[in-house]
Amino acid sequence: MDFRLSEEEEKLRQSVDAFVREELIPLEPEFETAPDIFEGSRWKSRAKLSRDPEIKRYLALMEELEKKAEARGLWYLDVPKEYGGLDVSNVAMIAVTEELEKTSVPFELGNHVSNILYNCKGEQIEKFLRPCIRGEKTSAFGLSEPASGADPSMLQTTATPDGDTFVINGTKMFPTFADVADFVQLFARLPGTKGREGVTCFLIDTGTPGYRVARSIATIAGTEPCELVFEDCRVHKSQVLGEVGNGWALNQAWLGARRFQVGIRSHGMSMRVLRAVASLVRDDDKEVGKCVERIGHFLGELEALRTLTYFGAWKADQKLDVRTEAANVKLFGTELVHTVIDFALEAAGPSALRKQNIIARAFRHARSHRIVEGPSEIQRHIIQRALFREGVALLELM
Ligand SMILES: Cc1cc2nc3c(=O)[nH]c(=O)nc-3n(C[C@H](O)[C@H](O)[C@H](O)COP(=O)(O)OP(=O)(O)OC[C@H]3O[C@@H](n4cnc5c(N)ncnc54)[C@H](O)[C@@H]3O)c2cc1C
Repeated sequence: MDFRLSEEEEKLRQSVDAFVREELIPLEPEFETAPDIFEGSRWKSRAKLSRDPEIKRYLALMEELEKKAEARGLWYLDVPKEYGGLDVSNVAMIAVTEELEKTSVPFELGNHVSNILYNCKGEQIEKFLRPCIRGEKTSAFGLSEPASGADPSMLQTTATPDGDTFVINGTKMFPTFADVADFVQLFARLPGTKGREGVTCFLIDTGTPGYRVARSIATIAGTEPCELVFEDCRVHKSQVLGEVGNGWALNQAWLGARRFQVGIRSHGMSMRVLRAVASLVRDDDKEVGKCVERIGHFLGELEALRTLTYFGAWKADQKLDVRTEAANVKLFGTELVHTVIDFALEAAGPSALRKQNIIARAFRHARSHRIVEGPSEIQRHIIQRALFREGVALLELM
């Protein structure tokens, strides 16, 4: 087992490190007072439509950064070579994010392309995939429903075949920024199926008759999930992503791949928060004395999280089953960052409760990470499953 970076990947990491130091860190004071929308990721689509002059000013800064990153060859990193990208490994993408996380400026390299869109075929490639890669279109992810969030196998939205079309009926809860997205990746089930069977993914343009954005919901995490309603929404069979009935595998592939990024982001956010505490108490011997032991403990745990994250990404690069590692990283990372921030608020005192303080900002984000893309309780279920399977196998041997 060896998850060190190759020579080429190490060069990429160094380029990102230079970009962070030269372009992003100098902008940190400017971003301390940025509008909430720039707190989380995926602000692009919402910010682009805004008429607020302050949001436009920050958007211009971001667009300038994007040009600089592209000029340095730091765009399209995880895009497959056949679509003009660098197709860097999962391990290298973790190293890239680790460098980006050294600054609080919420800048990401590349456009948000949902990884399952690489299953596009035929006309879908020009209509959906390439515009997303170029940043001309954005998509929303429509999986959760009012009665099925933590357990998506309970989803109730139906796709009833009718000739060359499917008729979609149901409600989706929380697809992020669906109100400003160009299309939604919508998961629905064939009539008469249950559990993981019959789940199918469709690519549906915003504005298709029968598809309505009922509301958008502002959250403490800066993102705005929506409620979507589908009433006899007719879509052509050419809008099926992948194969009919194969949607469960797509949804799992999307969730699995993202988990390792969640791990390294949790690591980066924790380190930034601990640095903020250290700089506050550094000159006060009494305060330092109170904090050092806990900070030392956290640094040990954070190194464990970092190693676990690299290990999971390495396993994913070997095309091995990473379901348990992905759950371990999601659970450990999102719980740990929350404990670190709670400590940081306590150590920094009331000043850290100011809305735009770096610790207060981190707190608002971190809480939602323990819920979205599968809450902690579900990760614990996934992790314990392996033990019980092992238990059954042992009993069978006796
Ligand atoms: C800001 C935000 C953005 C989101 N973006 C998206 C998106 O883009 N696309 C999308 O499809 N969804 C999105 N979601 C939905 C998110 O993935 C779900 O909220 C999450 O999976 C939990 O589902 P739920 O809200 O229905 O909670 P429920 O399923 O009702 O669960 C509520 C709580 O009950 C507990 N629980 C549930 N099941 C169990 C169990 N078996 N054992 C023990 N405890 C359990 C957990 O603590 C859980 O948090 C988003 C949510 C938020 C808040």
